[in-house]
Amino acid sequence: MHLKAKKHFGQHFLVNEKIANDIVDALSFSVNSNIIEIGPGKGVLTQYLIEKEAHLKVVEIDSDCVKIIQKKFNKIDLIHGDFLKIDLSKVGFEKYAIIGNFPYNISSQILFKVLESRDSIFELVGMFQKEVAERICSKPGSKKYGILSVVIQAYFDCEYLLEVPPDNFQPIPKVHSAVIKIVRNTRKKLDCNHSDFMKIVKSSFSQRRKKLKNALKNFTNLNHEKLKHLMSKRAEELSVSDFVKLTNMIS
Ligand code: SAH
Repeated sequence: MHLKAKKHFGQHFLVNEKIANDIVDALSFSVNSNIIEIGPGKGVLTQYLIEKEAHLKVVEIDSDCVKIIQKKFNKIDLIHGDFLKIDLSKVGFEKYAIIGNFPYNISSQILFKVLESRDSIFELVGMFQKEVAERICSKPGSKKYGILSVVIQAYFDCEYLLEVPPDNFQPIPKVHSAVIKIVRNTRKKLDCNHSDFMKIVKSSFSQRRKKLKNALKNFTNLNHEKLKHLMSKRAEELSVSDFVKLTNMIS
């Protein structure tokens, strides 16, 4: 069936089978075989996932893609809907991995949803716009280090796997892409309040060129003696544990 790609659903179909196979192989099947694929499209990753005999569920928003997938793969467990709106606690998996060539227009929202379900998600392998992939994996001191790097790295170990040039997709996107793998770390809880942490990280980077004492001046309790050292730095110089310290001293 011929399908005209829909821009508003971020549709760029991967047409390189070797890369599709490599992406699927990046999942650790021996540890966990419950898998949710976001946006199977025409099934280029799905076919390799099925070969692994995993417990697979796919979530697809576009009814044309849903038809293609259902025709191609008999009895596939498919949720026709918006991944951002589904209640992950009701999908029927206790622990699972997530995979997908993500629609780039919602990739940050996918990550924030993953963060909320962080104790059920063992790992994620995903294709992102290259700049987003780099941001997620960047370390302190880099210009690319930002909100996503801190909040994801607080709970996941991140690995930048491979870059995928635009001509591997149909239609060809304007941006370069990259695949990353993030694996849940052993940190069960931050040593501070999670939602305060998220707020402070976001505020710190909202004016990333300013020193923290200026970027965070709307928070009370900034005069703590122990804070002086951190407050004279910029957000991009702080590690995850610095942000944890900062959160504890402010909240
Ligand atoms: N995995 C396929 C398709 C990638 S394009 C491939 O690699 O070729 C992104 C896919 O995500 C499309 O199939 C698109 O319809 C789907 N999609 C977009 N927004 C979505 C959403 N909110 N929830 C679920 N799927 C979505």
